[in-house]
Amino acid sequence: MPEKVVIIGSGPAGWAAAIYAARAALNPLVFEGAVTEENRVAGTLPLGQLALTTEIENYPGFPAGDLERYLETSLGPDRRVMMPPHSKEGVSGPELMELMRQQAANFGARIITEDIVAVDFAAHPFKLTASDGNTYAALAVIVATGARANYLGLPSEERFKNRGVSACAVCDGALPRFRNKPLAVVGGGDSAVEEADYLSKFGSVVHMIHRRDQLRASKIMAKRAMDNPKIKVQWNRTLAEVLGNDKDGVTGVHLASTAGEPELVLDVSGVFLAIGHTPNTAFLKGKLELTPKGYVKWTTPFRTYTSVEGVFAAGDVGDDYYRQAITAAGSGCMAALDAERWLAAKGF
Ligand code: FAD
Ligand code: NAP
Repeated sequence: MPEKVVIIGSGPAGWAAAIYAARAALNPLVFEGAVTEENRVAGTLPLGQLALTTEIENYPGFPAGDLERYLETSLGPDRRVMMPPHSKEGVSGPELMELMRQQAANFGARIITEDIVAVDFAAHPFKLTASDGNTYAALAVIVATGARANYLGLPSEERFKNRGVSACAVCDGALPRFRNKPLAVVGGGDSAVEEADYLSKFGSVVHMIHRRDQLRASKIMAKRAMDNPKIKVQWNRTLAEVLGNDKDGVTGVHLASTAGEPELVLDVSGVFLAIGHTPNTAFLKGKLELTPKGYVKWTTPFRTYTSVEGVFAAGDVGDDYYRQAITAAGSGCMAALDAERWLAAKGF
């Protein structure tokens, strides 16, 4: 028997879709992604992008307060242990994601900890192949695979990945190699500020390397960078090369100028990339219509329909504009409702 609804992805969009689909008695099957070194390095482990960050201050329903006791009783100890201690300020990213996952499981969503690596949308029921080689048939599919961090593509960046070059401060920032050392963050958006702010707890100084003379970050985040005495913005600069050696890993950065200034070399022990994201759609190429930037194309305004009838998309995988946890969760809800109505209309 084919599954009624398969949900691919485990960020806010995937879990919101799972909660709604489970409550609609669609018995959803969620592929939350595989726990592999490749996914760790790419920042695509289960629970998505929010699990890579610290406090979440803008997700409605989680004001500052002590969630500790609720977390202790709502999550099993095996999953609670994976999270850093509760900060007593709002909710942390990993906590929020674990709560969403648990909420979906409580309503009966079934969860498989594998990637979907191939899809066949040419025939119905659709066919999905998981990373363990198993195949699944589905009447409706919700794609909620989100996005991953970009790298610049410099050979020196590749050479020092995991030896001082990272795209996740929360994952790697506390490592001894970065303690009380000068560090660099590349980018000028909200992520760059968040990474720099987090790293300032560990490093002696954090250089934000930004290619323009103005941050892209929201006003409140930009103020946070400006108010932090340990963050120094290197305006109008790009990263030309990561400097280092085999013994020590990263030792510095060579910066070019976008404003005609002389080149600059800074001593740093770590380089953190925060220059935007690429949607996780490699396995969908040629199967669904994608935008020129590789995002899944929504074909109808205010609906989560894609170019294939019965396949719906939610969250950052189709959104290069809002890219927030709340918008991802909102569109996950919409995708489940769209799938439910489509299945009913087709008589499934
Ligand atoms: P994602 O969170 O990207 O999760 C998708 C997940 O699906 C992947 O990570 C992976 O585990 C899984 N997956 C991918 N491919 C497959 C596959 N083929 N098979 C199975 N599973 C797969 N937003 C806010 O609103 N507030 C914040 O404070 C905030 N802070 C942020 C901090 C950082 C450092 C970053 C990077 C982002 C932040 N955002 C924040 C943005 C927010 O995290 C995203 O908008 C949101 O997580 C997108 O959710 P999503 O469900 O679309 O997908
Ligand atoms: P972003 O807003 O797209 O910013 C990317 C930054 O990287 C920009 O400053 C950009 O420079 C720079 N950049 C891109 N390509 C570059 C290159 N090749 N070389 C040098 N610099 C480059 O991405 P983001 O900061 O990851 O944020 C993504 C979304 O998540 C946003 O919607 C954001 O609001 C959200 N988010 C929210 C929070 C929060 O609310 N606390 C935290 C993190 C993320 P330019 O400015 O010159 O284009």
